[in-house]
Amino acid sequence: MVNPLVNKRQKIMSKKELTDTITNRLAAAHDKITSVAQTAGRNADEIKLMAVSKTKPTDYIVAAYEQGQRIFGENYAQELHQKWQQLDMLEEIEWHYIGPIQSNKTAIIAEAASWIDSVDRLKIAKRLSTHAVSLNKSLNILLQVNISGSDSKSGVSLAEVNDLASEVYKLPQLNLRGLMAIPDQYDDNEQLIKEFNLMNGCFSELQQQYPSVDTLSLGMSADLTEAVSHGSTLVRLGTAIFGAR
Ligand SMILES: *Cc1c(COP(=O)(O)O)cnc(C)c1O
Repeated sequence: MVNPLVNKRQKIMSKKELTDTITNRLAAAHDKITSVAQTAGRNADEIKLMAVSKTKPTDYIVAAYEQGQRIFGENYAQELHQKWQQLDMLEEIEWHYIGPIQSNKTAIIAEAASWIDSVDRLKIAKRLSTHAVSLNKSLNILLQVNISGSDSKSGVSLAEVNDLASEVYKLPQLNLRGLMAIPDQYDDNEQLIKEFNLMNGCFSELQQQYPSVDTLSLGMSADLTEAVSHGSTLVRLGTAIFGAR
């Protein structure tokens, strides 16, 4: 006999519901990126979409993968490593680590991720380089910039980007690809856009010095429009794809 209480509480989506929901959300995100890019006079092909799957079960990731999504972002080292192991049958999946990096987690991050988008200290970069050499793989690196200057956020200041970039660039098996930032939440967009423009300027300078630099990761579910119209080449969408956490 069916227990009505249990049925009421557990609102588990069927596979079809999950697939339909994620398919629709991915399509809506791509449409939005395309239309904002067009308005801003940008080519939508320059902008990649990362699906941020932190805290979400692996069947959510599989559902997105089946719709052609390849780039996934995770914030917690252990969770990334577990999902990477569980989903190793998904060919061409591209794992990005986007969370704060503790020294004692660099080994599992380096093993599971092909991109590490939150590097903000030379010490961490050196450890990642050492792991990459012993794993015989290369790691794509973004430097995280604390663009709003808030105490609660990781990242180097804009003024420190050049020094860190020149050191990271020299490290074996690390491929310097660009910058990432998580701005504070602002009530009006003026400050946000100012910070995105600063990031974009810094990114352009870096590109002129290092030919490998091609990625500016800005924009989450709430500020997608501003990010795409101000130079982002990699947006990171969690809620917009997988729902609230
Ligand atoms: C969680 C997270 C995201 C996704 O945030 P949403 O608001 O759910 O889109 C993007 N970037 C980073 C670094 C995150 O930690």
